[in-house]
Amino acid sequence: MKLHFLGAAKTVTGSQYLLETLHGHLMVDCGMYQGPDHLREQTSPVARVPAEQVRALLLTHAHIDHSGHLPWLVRLGYRGPIFATAATTDLCDIMLADSAHIQEEDARQDLRKWQKRGHIGPPPEPLYTQEDVPPTMALFQPVRYGEMVEVIPGVRARWRDAGHILGAACIEVWVEENGRETKIIFSGDIGQTGRPLIRDPEVLDDADFVITESTYGNRRHEDQAVKLGRLLEIIQRTIRNRSHIIVPAFAVGRTQELLYELNALVEQHEISRFPVYVDSPLATAATEVYSRHRECLDAETRALLDAGDDPLDFRGLHFTREVSESMALNQQKGPFMIISASGMATAGRIRHHLAHHLEHGDDTLLIVGFQAVGTLGRLLHDGATRVKLMGHNVRVRARVVEMLGYSAHADAEGLLAWLEPIEGPRAVFVLHGEEPAALDYAALAHRRLGAPTLVPDYGETVDLDNAEEIAFRLGQMESIWRRPAIIRQA
Ligand SMILES: [Zn+2]
Repeated sequence: MKLHFLGAAKTVTGSQYLLETLHGHLMVDCGMYQGPDHLREQTSPVARVPAEQVRALLLTHAHIDHSGHLPWLVRLGYRGPIFATAATTDLCDIMLADSAHIQEEDARQDLRKWQKRGHIGPPPEPLYTQEDVPPTMALFQPVRYGEMVEVIPGVRARWRDAGHILGAACIEVWVEENGRETKIIFSGDIGQTGRPLIRDPEVLDDADFVITESTYGNRRHEDQAVKLGRLLEIIQRTIRNRSHIIVPAFAVGRTQELLYELNALVEQHEISRFPVYVDSPLATAATEVYSRHRECLDAETRALLDAGDDPLDFRGLHFTREVSESMALNQQKGPFMIISASGMATAGRIRHHLAHHLEHGDDTLLIVGFQAVGTLGRLLHDGATRVKLMGHNVRVRARVVEMLGYSAHADAEGLLAWLEPIEGPRAVFVLHGEEPAALDYAALAHRRLGAPTLVPDYGETVDLDNAEEIAFRLGQMESIWRRPAIIRQA
């Protein structure tokens, strides 16, 4: 049995793994690459095998960096089942349509540039279009958390709660070959414990191989109470100055968590009459999906709902729908908060809000999520004083405040707490983290838990049956395991 690493190697986006078994090829996740150009080779979902040869696709969750290449795969000929939880299926329905729209828009822009430059090379085309989404959705087969599913004869899988976003799962896979059973765990993205709305990550007990994320493998998140205090302080300052808070937030997950906490601040009378605009059709639609999938929510949230209190709705909260409503916000006096997508400010309405507000010294840009290298969000996070936005040079005078306690990802301690109960892995593959985070986490997990960690490169293949090969690779990791892990406060 062979495992091919076709994405998210030493980077955080483009998750995609191909498992080659005697029963056929399986793919786990089919994510879009959204990182810097120098790693762009990590974009092709079918580098190793024609799409029609993949027999089943197992999806951990709906985020585009895990699901965004599905319509492309289908366009290339994939016709097998896509197994995912029901909530993931509903979220993919809206997210893939949104992604197709972005692909079409980008291609239109590229086409104009291509025409200006005198038609050199083939004309740019979108990776996929709206038309590719319905045939992709038709392949989805919803599964329940905890249910054992035979994904192809000889291979069983079980989706376990990852506590990351609605419907997100770690997937346990059992492959029976030559009278032997091998168990592999794909972590997907692992959430923080104790976060609102969704349940905590489930405890998994054993595996032969583990594929784990490491987004914040070298970070420690801010304490929840401290974070809430800071949020309140920023809002109070904004009310005093009649200014604005602009929040680029992932439409799915981050936006809903932020609403939950704003709801609490309003209901505890810490703030009142503070307008909050969710200006993202995708975030609005995703919030509706959250309300529909009670089976994924934690006990606290269900109790609130049963008592008639919707924690994703409060006085002062508005969902804008039309572009005209979004544009009108630019003329409106403060104070208010705008939560808009995309989360790393690479596309969407957030860009025109940033163009409008970054120049104002009283305004605050609130960063609540991971900003990948090469994105506008990362530039602002890193202190850029000028950025190019909507064709203009924009001076950054607004305060930039980072609050990563909102992250839907566990920090280093959270990742260790998830990994520790898993007994007996022969190798733990560390992916879905930028190189320093992946290496630091590999070192930390080895030192603290004795875990046999490996950090694969893009395009690498590991023969899971070849104990000598794995031992050799683990030997190569010795120098990295001695690396002093630097855990920074996030
Ligand atoms: Zn995710």
